[in-house]
Amino acid sequence: MASKTESGRTTFPYLSSDAFVSDTDKAALQQLQKIPLLPTLVRKYNEASGDRFWYVRNAAESVRCGPKQFPTLYRLLKEACSILHIPEPELYVRYSATYNAYTAGMNRTFIVLQSALVEDFTDEEILYIIGHEVGHIKCGHVLYQSLGRMLLPLLDMLGKATLGVGQLVGTSLVAGFFEWMRQAEYSCDRAGLLVCQDPQVAFSATMKWAVVLPVSTGSAVWRPSWNRLDSTPKPAVWMAWQRPFSF
Ligand SMILES: [Zn+2]
Repeated sequence: MASKTESGRTTFPYLSSDAFVSDTDKAALQQLQKIPLLPTLVRKYNEASGDRFWYVRNAAESVRCGPKQFPTLYRLLKEACSILHIPEPELYVRYSATYNAYTAGMNRTFIVLQSALVEDFTDEEILYIIGHEVGHIKCGHVLYQSLGRMLLPLLDMLGKATLGVGQLVGTSLVAGFFEWMRQAEYSCDRAGLLVCQDPQVAFSATMKWAVVLPVSTGSAVWRPSWNRLDSTPKPAVWMAWQRPFSF
């Protein structure tokens, strides 16, 4: 039976990820899994300790949240996990001037929140973001996401090093990954809404997440005073389409 969290949100102890995974996510994943090269890449990723690489790199760059360190964020993590009924992953904050969050690690799964997001988002919006990331865990997205995050820059480098030949070889794989990774985001936006349980919070958090303007000269970030947001955020609407490739 569903119960309530301390803040009054409903928990979903028997909810399967099938209930909120988008049809386009399922279809894109099926297409990705049909690419012949994929099983080999998964095996090589595991042999090369890709999982360990992400964990160690993150531990060196981030600060872990717990009952005595970023306790509010830790409380939000516990609430999100109790709502979607998954074991608690580790939670970290990493310094960055851009809004983003991501999840990695199969053996020791961890969620990372970038510091700009922690500074500028309300607690409810951060709960939505954490809910989105917890959704990735519940949907079983983490392996392919970690693989894609490592693979895509490598294929880009390979393409440049081989005057495009390597890029050509990897094109179907890259396209498959990009398609699935985008569709997976939609599923997890639904997970975020299930956790925060307030459409307005989901809306404002998603719009803020969209407002990052990377430019070729570096990372330029436009961050108006979003915490004063009280209605439709018109300046952000036209930018929503270029939401960065967040994880
Ligand atoms: Zn995501």
